[in-house]
Amino acid sequence: MPNGDGGRIMGAPPGQPNVKVNINLTALETSVCPECGCPFFYTNLAIYKKLTSVESPTGKAETVRVILSQCMECGIIVQPKGMELERVLIEKVEPEGEKKDA
Ligand SMILES: [Zn+2]
Repeated sequence: MPNGDGGRIMGAPPGQPNVKVNINLTALETSVCPECGCPFFYTNLAIYKKLTSVESPTGKAETVRVILSQCMECGIIVQPKGMELERVLIEKVEPEGEKKDA
C-alpha cells in the first residue's frame, strides 16, 4: 500500500486556535480549484505587499502579509473571493544584482 505523504490535508494549520463551530461540514458546498476542481489546498502560504502611506489605512507606509492557498493538484495560487476561490497571479521577481547572465 503506498504511503504517500498522508496526513497533510487534515486538521487546521498549526498555530490556529481550535474554534468550535456548530456547522455540519458535510452539508456545505465545497469550494474547489477554479482550474482543476480539486477541493484540497495547501495553506499557510504568505506574500507580503508594500503599501504606500497613501494606500495604507494607518497612513504609514508599511508591508502587509496576505495569506494565500495553493491547489494540491495543479499548483495555482488562490484566495477566497465572495462564494468562490479566485486565482491569484503573482510574478516572481529576481533580486537586483544577482543576474546570472551578466
Ligand atoms: Zn487546481
